[in-house]
Amino acid sequence: MARYTGSVCKLCRREGEKLFLKGERCFAAKCSFDRRNYAPGQHGQNRRFKQSNYGLQLREKQKIRRTYGLLEKQFRNNYEKAEREKGVTGERMLMRLESRLDVCVYRLGLAPSLKGARQFVSHGHVTVNTRKVDIPSYMLRPGDKIQIRAQSRKMDIIHNSMQRVRENRMVPYLSLDKAKMEGEFLSLPKRDEIPITAREQLVVELYSR
Ligand code: SF4
Repeated sequence: MARYTGSVCKLCRREGEKLFLKGERCFAAKCSFDRRNYAPGQHGQNRRFKQSNYGLQLREKQKIRRTYGLLEKQFRNNYEKAEREKGVTGERMLMRLESRLDVCVYRLGLAPSLKGARQFVSHGHVTVNTRKVDIPSYMLRPGDKIQIRAQSRKMDIIHNSMQRVRENRMVPYLSLDKAKMEGEFLSLPKRDEIPITAREQLVVELYSR
């Protein structure tokens, strides 16, 4: 499957916001965005212009897409499915993104970053309701139980991640039993529970052009 292989820190600098794509490094002094808070490239520090409406919509879409590490086609497919569902399209889009298995594995703290969580799922380390699932985009439903497979529980990366889990950062639609290394998808996320600052309405406006 195609994937972005360039520098992820450049993406934060381009969007003018920390997207938290590198796990613990994002909270350390090494964070590139904290050290160089301007757009990447030769003229990054000199860019001063008023953005058009289209520019604002495009940047917001790119920010959300990059936060979830998706390519344009995957992101657009997700949007089109959200559009066909009942409810506010922008909120449905975010709700669908937050219901993905890789995103929930990351939010539970079973992997240090979203990229790590995706690899973790695709390498077959995760089960949903005791069945192995290796599709990162698998959509969870309320009541689904997410577990680390028994043979994968000894992996250092999991232990290190679990030790860093901060209960106060847990989103309300997930619960974690650290001892059992088991999480539960409690309910569909509401907009105010989703921990990203994005104006999803601008994405709807962009794709409705
Ligand atoms: Fe973004 Fe994290 Fe890189 Fe900082 S360390 S620029 S938050 S990906």
